[in-house]
Amino acid sequence: MQALQKTAAAFGLEFREVPQPAAPAAHEVIVDVVAAGICGSDVHIYDWSGGYDFLKQAFPVTIGHEFAGRIAQVGVDVAGLQAGQPVVVIPSVECGVCEFCSAGRLDECRDRRGIGMLRDGGFARFVRVPALNCLALPDDIDLGIAALCEPLSIGLSGVKAAEVKRGDKVLVMGPGTIGQGIALLARERGAEVVVVGYDDPGRLDGVRALGIDRTLDLKQQPLSDTKQLIGADEFDIVIEATGVPSTVQAGLDLLRPSGVLVICGIHGAPVSFDAAKLVRNRHQIRGTYRASRATWAQVRDFVVEHHAALVPMVTHRLPLADALEGFEMARNKIGSKILLMP
Ligand SMILES: [Zn+2]
Ligand SMILES: [Zn+2]
Repeated sequence: MQALQKTAAAFGLEFREVPQPAAPAAHEVIVDVVAAGICGSDVHIYDWSGGYDFLKQAFPVTIGHEFAGRIAQVGVDVAGLQAGQPVVVIPSVECGVCEFCSAGRLDECRDRRGIGMLRDGGFARFVRVPALNCLALPDDIDLGIAALCEPLSIGLSGVKAAEVKRGDKVLVMGPGTIGQGIALLARERGAEVVVVGYDDPGRLDGVRALGIDRTLDLKQQPLSDTKQLIGADEFDIVIEATGVPSTVQAGLDLLRPSGVLVICGIHGAPVSFDAAKLVRNRHQIRGTYRASRATWAQVRDFVVEHHAALVPMVTHRLPLADALEGFEMARNKIGSKILLMP
């Protein structure tokens, strides 16, 4: 089968003819991948712009960690999953042997291997994964929309870290898929949401297509104009999903006293901010990363319930053979989520 792989510590990705995965071990399954999203981190791996040196140990490796498909084959000890079952895959595999795993505290495992990072992922027709990493989906769901579960799980983790509640005024910085998910999930909790981006008209259109009308492109208007959009001087919560270091101070400047700023973005450089101002305003900065299994289950349920409303998040579906075109579109911020359809 054809697989889109990272093979060298340099720009680019390579299509390689690889064998189909061997039969699954006792607790594993083979997933026939239907849809796999191109993530911002995949674009970083493609660009090789820094931060992913840890992947070298796994080269050559098939990337792609946001995917859904159907079970093709199950290992002998797998219960509850059968061939043909649609599933979405949690792309982080616990070690199974550390003190946390042994105690059943899988979310705390320190020795994980990411599917589509350190082991083969979803930019190929078939992938072998632990059965425990599969969440069942109903038969009639669009698996392209189900592939949004991974970025939505990051979004829900951010919304939970921020403790968003009804009536909160929430500023979301970054209109990509994660920012869109944060906005939707914060609105679901009854918040008033504003989304900002920089020179990002296509993805801000995507935000509005989701019914979130209050958006601002910072190339055209200053961030302070968001105050008019909410009719207030400050936000209760700021959630950052850009990875751009300057957004942290900019977000803090719009936060009310005792407000919370959550960082979801992966920052390629250290962030500086005015700590005295932070202290005097009793601001809190919180980080969030990789959703817990409980959050994943909630996201799966959210996607099953609201999949029709999520349709605008997916703007392109390309055959796997056109993957490199898809990566160029993603790095040029053309469209929102671009899916490859192996
Ligand atoms: Zn992702
Ligand atoms: Zn472990």
